[in-house]
Amino acid sequence: MKEKISAIKGTKDILPKEARKWQRVEAIARRVFELYGYREIRTPIFEATELFEKGTGQTSDIVIKEMYTFHDKAGRSLTLRPEYTPSVVRSIIEHRLYLMPEPLRFYYVGPMFRYDKPQKGRYRQFDQGDIEVFGEMDPAVDAEIVEMANFLLKKLSVTGVEILVNSVGCSACRPTYLKELRVGAEKARDSLCPDCQRKIKTNPLRIFDCKVESCREIAKGFPKITKYLCTECEEHFHKFCTYLEFYKLPFKLEPHLVRGIDYYTKTTFEFVSKKLGAQDAILGGGRYDDMMKEFGGPDICGIGFAIGMGRLISVVPSKKRKEGFLYLAYLGEEAKKTGMELVQLLRSKGLECLIEFKERSLKNQMSRANKLGATWVLIVGEDEVREGKYQLKNMATGVQKEATREEILEMIQEGP
Ligand SMILES: [Zn+2]
Ligand SMILES: [Zn+2]
Repeated sequence: MKEKISAIKGTKDILPKEARKWQRVEAIARRVFELYGYREIRTPIFEATELFEKGTGQTSDIVIKEMYTFHDKAGRSLTLRPEYTPSVVRSIIEHRLYLMPEPLRFYYVGPMFRYDKPQKGRYRQFDQGDIEVFGEMDPAVDAEIVEMANFLLKKLSVTGVEILVNSVGCSACRPTYLKELRVGAEKARDSLCPDCQRKIKTNPLRIFDCKVESCREIAKGFPKITKYLCTECEEHFHKFCTYLEFYKLPFKLEPHLVRGIDYYTKTTFEFVSKKLGAQDAILGGGRYDDMMKEFGGPDICGIGFAIGMGRLISVVPSKKRKEGFLYLAYLGEEAKKTGMELVQLLRSKGLECLIEFKERSLKNQMSRANKLGATWVLIVGEDEVREGKYQLKNMATGVQKEATREEILEMIQEGP
């Protein structure tokens, strides 16, 4: 026996049955983003490693532990993108998209990569839906993207979702807060996990992202950023909340919501599902007003969110498909050819048809059609070929009728 090759640890196949749901969810997401004036931007899956080091921040967990980095044959250090925003920012600067009349509103749906410890529900290759807006400082845009996310979830019939919001301040007000946070964390040092102990010095905000339950409990007592916001950040946050109320969106202030990435400024938010538990947001995002500048681009603010597509799909209720599907059963060579021609005609009219080229009895073919969930079975035998009349069976009602080609077309157009 030859040795079998399996999928790489931390990756998974999305099999056809599941892929249908993915297609539906992705199509609805794309449609919703387009409705709000976003356009798709496709960037490469791998980029120079520096891009993500710079963008995601040297002290982010993503950079320290989780980047999928490798050397290519020329010895360059490349990284499979762990997130989308740095690539978009690079692309905007590279193509000077900010000089174009089109709004800087982009979306993308595709795979990201993180070399995380594989565990249930977490993969090294995972899909994200991302949206980004650049050059709009008004907190109304912060509220609009939250409203858009909410609209998308509504379209997908996702219920039981809570919206959490916070502000993480800016380069003017955050340092004072970080100082206070360090003092608070230092007092609790001995009770924190080794990872969090290290974060006290490098980036105390990251303590709030720790998955260890005892750390989460302790962190609840740490100083809250809300009290340290400068006037500008406070006003921005207040207006953001006012616009959310204007949209009649219920939300909860979560002063420790910092998100796992260094570049956020001002607004941060998350959508959490009661079905998934508080640690697993379906969607999260925030502002990154300094990012473009730090990448050597113009001083243009930005905001966006990322959806974990796998998590989203796990909370989207499944739907029965509405479109019909016809299974063609035949007996004998002549009937097969007639069948081949009939499905060609029906497919050209937009009906999904399946004819299988494997010798089977009629009974066997009928039971396959049943198993596959066919809406109709069209039976072609030698008599039928001779007379130009076929047996069309409606699988829902069980009614079988003799019909000509024209009658078949008519019946099918009427629907199941
Ligand atoms: Zn500030
Ligand atoms: Zn910890």
